[in-house]
Amino acid sequence: MKEFDLIKRYFTEQAVKRKDVILGIGDDCALLQPAERQHIAVTTDTLVAGVHFPESTEPRAIGHKAVAVNLSDLSAMGAEPTWLSLALTLPEIDEQWVAEFCCGVFELCEYYNVQLIGGDTTQGPLSITITAQGLTPVDKYITRSGANAGDWLYVTGDLGDAALALQHLQGKVNVAEQYKEQIFDKLDYPKPRVLVGQVLRDYATSAIDISDGLISDLGHICQASNVGANIVLDDLPISDIMNETLGKTAAIDVALKGGDDYELLFTVSEDNKVGMETALINTGVAITCIGQLNGSEKITTTMDNKPVSINSQGFEHFSKVDT
Ligand code: ADP
Ligand code: MG
Repeated sequence: MKEFDLIKRYFTEQAVKRKDVILGIGDDCALLQPAERQHIAVTTDTLVAGVHFPESTEPRAIGHKAVAVNLSDLSAMGAEPTWLSLALTLPEIDEQWVAEFCCGVFELCEYYNVQLIGGDTTQGPLSITITAQGLTPVDKYITRSGANAGDWLYVTGDLGDAALALQHLQGKVNVAEQYKEQIFDKLDYPKPRVLVGQVLRDYATSAIDISDGLISDLGHICQASNVGANIVLDDLPISDIMNETLGKTAAIDVALKGGDDYELLFTVSEDNKVGMETALINTGVAITCIGQLNGSEKITTTMDNKPVSINSQGFEHFSKVDT
């Protein structure tokens, strides 16, 4: 099968046909007609085999994740996802692989009414680059830089499960058989918090999606907003599987530093706290308040109301470490 046949067979036919796509796949460019008074949010993410996903990952999961990580970035801005472009580099044309990969891509596209509008297909080591675009009403978008001292810090879902699955694959921990499916679902099929992001337009002062780990991504908000933060470790949303597999201390460490969660981390003023919590009930996504911002320009952590320090080995009670 040639490149053109592959594109026609697997990418051109799709269920989603948006009215704002004047021309989709098939010409030299796609033509789009965005609604008036909307900003277009644009993001790109590349997944390289062996770097961003283990070589053993099933193709449907690769397709899902390539789309999900991009929709997650759009969600963090409060944007509604609309269009995708897909640059696919394949070692060889393996139709079975492409068919399953497309399942992963189009499942998410159909769920969120996102249309694949073009791309490129080349030969080389397996790599997937997706550019996703979305819309936000003019002046109703969320950035990393709008947070203020005193704002409350929230996170969606649970933290660390994806990192736990990766540690299991790397032979560093052993996840019990009965938990594997649930944990690997988090690593392979992350759920972008698309609706939460759109609701947060009206409430959040800042947001980011957690791809590199809570501490690291909170650091981006703090830096962009010129604030510090304290995280209450007792309040971190950690699954029973994490606690049971790793023990409480190591579970907190993974929740703070593990990547690949694709949960949203966001901040909200005291005045908007109740409104935000009420508005998010309809999304069905659990949220947890995990701390508060301050004027210190540092990230600190407390447990049992006492300061604790986090270092590369985990965290210790403050008094025991050099500061
Ligand atoms: P060109 O040579 O002008 O870049 P191509 O032959 O690469 O065009 O692609 C033909 C059409 O198929 C274009 O509309 C392009 O956007 C689309 N396309 C190519 N590869 C993909 C892909 N992996 N996914 C979606 N659309 C694709
Ligand atoms: Mg081309």
